[in-house]
Amino acid sequence: MKDTFLSNGKGYYGDFGGAFIPEMLRENVESLRKVYFNIIESDAFKKEFHDLLVNYAGRPSPLFLAKRLSEKYGAKIYLKREDLNHTGSHKINNTLGQILLARHMGKRRIIAETGAGQHGVATATVCALMNMECVVYMGETDIERQEPNVRRMEMLGAKVVPALSGNKTLKDATNEALRDWICNPEDTFYIIGSVVGPHPYPDLVARLQSVISEELLWQMKKAEGTEDPDYIVACVGGGSNAAGSFYHYLDRKNVKLIGVEASGKGVDTGLTAATIAVGEPGIIHGSMTMLMQTDDGQITEPYSISAGLDYPGIGPLHAWLAGSGRAQYMNATDQEALHAAYELTRLEGIIPALESAHALAVLGKLELKKEDVVVVNVSGRGDKDMQAYINARSLFNVNLEGRR
Ligand SMILES: *Cc1c(COP(=O)(O)O)cnc(C)c1O
Repeated sequence: MKDTFLSNGKGYYGDFGGAFIPEMLRENVESLRKVYFNIIESDAFKKEFHDLLVNYAGRPSPLFLAKRLSEKYGAKIYLKREDLNHTGSHKINNTLGQILLARHMGKRRIIAETGAGQHGVATATVCALMNMECVVYMGETDIERQEPNVRRMEMLGAKVVPALSGNKTLKDATNEALRDWICNPEDTFYIIGSVVGPHPYPDLVARLQSVISEELLWQMKKAEGTEDPDYIVACVGGGSNAAGSFYHYLDRKNVKLIGVEASGKGVDTGLTAATIAVGEPGIIHGSMTMLMQTDDGQITEPYSISAGLDYPGIGPLHAWLAGSGRAQYMNATDQEALHAAYELTRLEGIIPALESAHALAVLGKLELKKEDVVVVNVSGRGDKDMQAYINARSLFNVNLEGRR
């Protein structure tokens, strides 16, 4: 049953998950844990959430048969077009759901962490929509690297606060957001951007993102006469778009689930973000999961060309899916992702986000048969990554034809 792979009442996925938090956060997390399930499973919430997903975010996102890509890889390849959502990725599914939850809980102030800025923009967007105060914590290094997203958040009315500790990136922004939450337990709701953090966040975010596979069931039935593809492939940073694409297929063992991590310069180079490949069990941001760390347990800095995949941990659900063998975790390097992005662009006229390009990059490694049906989740669009694509153009011109 699917419940085998979902968290138990205490937020454990096998040995992973839980809520390993300091005493000062316990009250905040407990008050969320007590109410989240009943609220998001209520008819009133579901109706409002569905209405916003349809009329605001633009769902359902299409399931597109990519004919030229299919021809190239010798299988039937469908693209789940999360890139077509409002704000350009799957992140809006989660932020719409969490801000409705915040409102049901009577909260008036929203905080969030962001790395590349995509989750920050999606959060600032729903705060404008719901007329709520919005504070986004972002590492100072990321603020410099992601200026357009900082300006978008500000235009939407959010206050962007630089995180100045550590190496001033996502991990440090998350620490700042947690600190804020401890100081403002009464009126503040913390919108986390992926299936990470202490219970109940991994379960909450997975449920909100599960709309992706809920749509896949009927879209596949309509396109192929069966709800089940042979493969579902999604990139994994924290793992929310993958969790959403896998969710309703977890108990259907005939559907192979493939998560794709970013291996950066290569899994053995020390410049990588492939947590399942190189990590060991450990605790990060309140959750027991797989974690990139040194022998004495210090968190290792992750690296990927893709800012959205550049996280040293992974959602506990994925640690468990990997450990139990239910899902397989592959990885793709910076170069493989860049090639895959150019390939999709030239074959189908779709410029994917660099994150999504990692998922596309493993198509050649799956040993597909002609009758196989594959769904690749295109988690976001590539506008934000144009500079990286332009920088890589010469590389692509030389190598694309020879690529498998
Ligand atoms: C943030 C982001 C990701 C990574 O986050 P997950 O929680 O692993 O889904 C992937 N793709 C895009 C386009 C993103 O913006």
